[in-house]
Amino acid sequence: MYLIGKEEVDAVRKVIESGQLFRYRGGEGGETDGFEEEFAAKIRTEHTLAVTSGTAALICGLAGMGIGPGDEVIVPAYTFMATALAPLAVGAVPVIAEIDESLTLDPANLERKITPRTKAVIPVHMLGLPCDMETIGRIARDHGIRVLEDCCQAVGGSYGSKRLGSLGDAGAFSFNQFKIITCGEGGALTTNNNVLYERAMIYHDGGCVFRKHAEEMGIPFYAGSNFRMNEILSTILRVQLKRLDGIIEGLRREKRVMMEELCDEVAFSPNPINDPEGECATTLSLLLESRDDSRAFIDLITKKGIGASSPIDSGRHVYRNWEPILHKRGAHHPEYDPYRLTDSPPEYSPDMCPRTLSILERTVCIPTNPTRTAEQTQTIIQGIKQAAQQIAGKT
Ligand SMILES: *Cc1c(COP(=O)(O)O)cnc(C)c1O
Repeated sequence: MYLIGKEEVDAVRKVIESGQLFRYRGGEGGETDGFEEEFAAKIRTEHTLAVTSGTAALICGLAGMGIGPGDEVIVPAYTFMATALAPLAVGAVPVIAEIDESLTLDPANLERKITPRTKAVIPVHMLGLPCDMETIGRIARDHGIRVLEDCCQAVGGSYGSKRLGSLGDAGAFSFNQFKIITCGEGGALTTNNNVLYERAMIYHDGGCVFRKHAEEMGIPFYAGSNFRMNEILSTILRVQLKRLDGIIEGLRREKRVMMEELCDEVAFSPNPINDPEGECATTLSLLLESRDDSRAFIDLITKKGIGASSPIDSGRHVYRNWEPILHKRGAHHPEYDPYRLTDSPPEYSPDMCPRTLSILERTVCIPTNPTRTAEQTQTIIQGIKQAAQQIAGKT
């Protein structure tokens, strides 16, 4: 969202002047420790591990679950490609499942894609929209598979009485520049599972065995990597975290007005939402009857200067554009390629998820903005209304 200002600048200056940019130099109580504590309190999980990106959070989450070669991880056909790359990074392969009209993983299709090799599912709360966690949780329990929530686009959202990122075995968050709160690049893993947390901790810090906290850890050290967060980014995130509730409130306020005023239009229906109270409201998403209607609708409203697009055009978020995956080039080295490390690699093709493609091409997304005035919101609503009536009149 990039709502960032003087407070972040002051916080960064303080950290730089302290001469302490590395999280593990001075013992306890640094900015990263503080951020982890505050984020865990916000999401209401036992642990938070700050990492360098949402992708890193997904990878550490899967490593924490002990997932590896021969394993399958189910991901939705509509998400940023990183969700599908993460299983490959730990030696497993992604299996791609359909979404439903909520723009999130279709639980029925998830269940159909489960095989004896399935070890985990990554439901993605796309556009701040919560997945059907009740059904997904039940399916996961029935089949004994793990749940890693991809909350990269949904920090601050909830499902029922719980925060997104606290419903599955773990949650992965991103703070890159395009997310709800940001420090440029960054991420976090949340979990209540101690073993998962310690395994992820070791994966994220190859030097973990040399840290002060190493003696308190209960599992053997294995070869990790480096996805460590630093004090500059953590101090930015601590300020951003204070802005989060206000941002979400602003987004929800604007979306509520939009929904109230647009509920009678016949040209579209809002995409159904698994928890309308809990969604982050970053986007107004509308479902039209056909691809042609959605195209015409986007043309009409963009001509009025209103930002709108179809998720089918969002390139990297649609599975048929995930080139390395569709071509099964799963690693930098052939002997290390997870597609070669399994007896039965999944089949992919650009048309394997027709329902997802049909839903995406009929959907129109209009971003909300917490900084708009009531008048600016009204201008957008009136523009959408006029376009909707033109579309409805045509048919
Ligand atoms: C942004 C995003 C990611 C990856 O986050 P990075 O911080 O860019 O690595 C993963 N999944 C989804 C749904 C995202 O939107």
